[in-house]
Formats: sequence, structure tokens, C-alpha cells
Amino acid sequence: MEEKISIWQGDITQVEVDAIVNAANKSLLGGGGVDGAIHQAAGPELKEACKKLGGAETGEAKLTEGFNLPAKYVIHTVGPVYRDGKHEEDKLLESCYRSSLGIAKKHHLKSIAFPAISTGIYHYPAEEAAQIAIHTILDFLEKQTSEITVILVAFDQRTENLYRKILKNID
Ligand code: ADP
Repeated sequence: MEEKISIWQGDITQVEVDAIVNAANKSLLGGGGVDGAIHQAAGPELKEACKKLGGAETGEAKLTEGFNLPAKYVIHTVGPVYRDGKHEEDKLLESCYRSSLGIAKKHHLKSIAFPAISTGIYHYPAEEAAQIAIHTILDFLEKQTSEITVILVAFDQRTENLYRKILKNID
């Protein structure tokens, strides 16, 4: 099962997949971090498309085209802002991964790349977030009959190491 998840270190805007996931904010109109990078690389049409989505709640996901990106689509999901771990942050983060994969499935997408949602400006502890990401993805994939390739994009070495360690322990 683990071979359906691969790890890649770098900039998610360069990944050629059916869909990349954006760690957006509730407005879905762009922001900093990976969101800013995706909007910059996709071009102004992405913001126009996002305006039509009417925002999203934490844990939800919505689809647009990828415009100038190598990815065909962008799945915009809103990660939880981490406060103290007692505000359903884990369930909401799980919901981001599950909702994004659900959209990919619904649209018959074959490959999807995720950034480490909520672990930047939203301050989710990196290791806990990586555990939730991997376990939610594996649980989702186990229940599928059709193939979908998942790429976990680590922007830095620390995140890559975390993903590798967690996947190795599942083996
Ligand atoms: P959030 O608000 O959900 O925390 P951030 O964009 O601040 O979103 O950070 C989420 C993760 O995305 C962080 O681990 C950050 O290092 C990473 N990141 C930032 N830019 C990129 C990029 N261009 N490609 C992939 N990952 C990125």
C-alpha cells in the first residue's frame, strides 16, 4: 500500500500531476506561503476562478483548473489554525486530506500532490500533521478500487525526513 504514496522535496507548483492541493485560507482568494506560490505560478486567472467559489470552511475542499501550472487542477482546502490541540484540529486536518481525495476521486483524477497543510503559518506541529496526513491517505486508499497516486511534497528536509520515518514504520 505504501508504494502508492511517494515523497518529493521541492516546490509543489512544479509538480506535474492531475491536481495539486493548495493550503488556502477561508477566503480562497490567495495568501502567503504555498498559497501565494500557487497563485503566482498559476497566474491571475486562478484568482478569478477562486472568486466564484465563495470561500470554504475549515476542512472543506474545492476544485479549480490549474491555469498556467503544470498541474491540470488545484484543489483548495482550508487547514485548521493550530491553537492548543483541543479544538478539533486533528479532525479538521484529517478532513482536509479526506475531502481533497474525495474530490480527486469524484473527478476521476489519477494523481494528486499535497503540501504539508497547516504546518506553516497555521502552526500545526509538523510530526503530528505528518502522521495525520499519512494515516488518512492510507486509510482512504485502502478503500479504493481505482488507482490514485499520492505525492507528499516536502518543502524542506525536516518534513521529508518526517514523512520517510513514518512511512518506514508502517512497512
Ligand atoms: P498553512 O497556512 O496551511 O500553514 P503554509 O503555506 O504557511 O500553509 O505552509 C504549509 C506548508 O507548505 C509548510 O510546510 C511550508 O513549508 C510549505 N510550503 C511553502 N511553500 C511551498 C511550496 N512552494 N511548495 C510546497 N510546499 C510549500
